[in-house]
Amino acid sequence: MMTSHEIREKFLSYFESKGHTRVDSSSLIPQNDPTLLFTNAGMNQFKDVFLGLKSLPYSRAVTCQKCVRAGGKHNDLESVGKTARHHTFFEMLGNFSFGDYFKKEAIEYAWEFLTDVLKLPKEQLWVSVFEEDEEAFELWQAYIPADRIVRLGEKDNFWSMGDTGPCGPCSEIYIDRGEEHSCNAKECALGKCDCDRWRELWNLVFMQYSRDENGTMTPLPKPSIDTGMGLERIATVMQDVYSNYDTDLLRPIITFLESMTGKKYKGGEEGFPFRVIADHSRAITFLISDGVLPGNEGRNYVLRRIIRRAARYGKELNLNEPFLYKIVPQVVSLMKDAYPELEKNITYIQKIVKSEEERFLETLSDGLKILYENIERLSKENKREIPGRTAFMLYDTYGFPIDLTCDIAEENGMSVDIKTFEQLMTKQREKAKAARKEMYEVDEFFKIIAHLPSSVFVGYDTFESSSSVQ
Ligand code: ATP
Ligand code: MG
Ligand code: MG
Ligand code: MG
Repeated sequence: MMTSHEIREKFLSYFESKGHTRVDSSSLIPQNDPTLLFTNAGMNQFKDVFLGLKSLPYSRAVTCQKCVRAGGKHNDLESVGKTARHHTFFEMLGNFSFGDYFKKEAIEYAWEFLTDVLKLPKEQLWVSVFEEDEEAFELWQAYIPADRIVRLGEKDNFWSMGDTGPCGPCSEIYIDRGEEHSCNAKECALGKCDCDRWRELWNLVFMQYSRDENGTMTPLPKPSIDTGMGLERIATVMQDVYSNYDTDLLRPIITFLESMTGKKYKGGEEGFPFRVIADHSRAITFLISDGVLPGNEGRNYVLRRIIRRAARYGKELNLNEPFLYKIVPQVVSLMKDAYPELEKNITYIQKIVKSEEERFLETLSDGLKILYENIERLSKENKREIPGRTAFMLYDTYGFPIDLTCDIAEENGMSVDIKTFEQLMTKQREKAKAARKEMYEVDEFFKIIAHLPSSVFVGYDTFESSSSVQ
């Protein structure tokens, strides 16, 4: 069996052998992109290179990039634990060409790596291409029969960095996990169905055009390549397990949780809390290690939500004391070879996690009690929606992030009146803003006073005004 560390290394060295420079993962906090909450793809650190704003001493690069897709445009938080393939934190393997090779080599390398280096069964592989990309469709036929090349529309297979700038068609490689895993959908087919049977492994982006404000696309003088493959997903295939959670990247965390709780992980519905905690503990460890702290705004609030969500699922496993901080060393020992910075930060990470857990546990039980009482009462009244006011009270008094309340509602076949919740949030923000403004005005008043020459205070001190001293 190939370990995840071996897969990571095989990927990096394969592309090195094709003239790529091995570049370290960048931080989860984007360094040069204020529009981005967290690093969510390998290409982020090369954005300026693709835009032609920066040049590098090499034109081919390969990375294994730490990514987080929680909050912001790419938000997979809600899929975690439900699908076998989505995480908040994951590692993205990627090869990049900055105006060097293009479609032909990108396809050739990807195919060779999967079928020659990793020896995946060719007959289980499928690809998708952008419906108008005849070139990619032609190129793929050198490797794969046309009936396993699916043409998809713009939503799935056209990539752009933003509303303007570099963009282009993409092509994705999937593995069919077998008919026995097809879902109950009427049409369980690639591109039609989002279930776990069709496991997307690798996305090859062909950066080919530049789009202007009017939406006009002009061909780039030097087209580029950006690819991304989830390490956890390819490990699942290589280790012949069905779910990412059964790979050597995540299963040891679940095993540790089993020993902590004395409960057995069985997969399926029942295993949900185990999967969420295993996933979230990685995100928490890596985010704090990269300098994010739990807080009330922006990326800090996303981290807080992740910690609180994990803490709440801990309750379902009867973990009533802080426990996440005890998982941190497990995550570190699994990942430290690839990310040595973790070991240095371990005590710090544990301290932050523990204090956030303590803080939330103080109010979690009371909040849960109120929420469950509400759910019970509403069900008796045959109502299916938790009022926005209740959700807001849980947020405001008990520190429940809204997605936590939504999770619990959903588990009980209910929804939350998000609209009213949002209105109450807006009202509160405005109140806080007004209060801040008042504070500011008082502040300004004192600042002005402080700068006035003391002679002004002649009424207080008639003998020694500064003007009379001079
Ligand atoms: P999906 O359709 O499965 O949500 P995606 O199309 O959103 O994936 P891309 O943006 O194409 O993903 O990212 C490139 C690769 O990164 C994917 O092919 C997949 O292997 C991996 N990946 C994407 N999102 C996640 C995630 N949340 N957890 C783990 N791996 C992921
Ligand atoms: Mg996605
Ligand atoms: Mg996809
Ligand atoms: Mg994709």
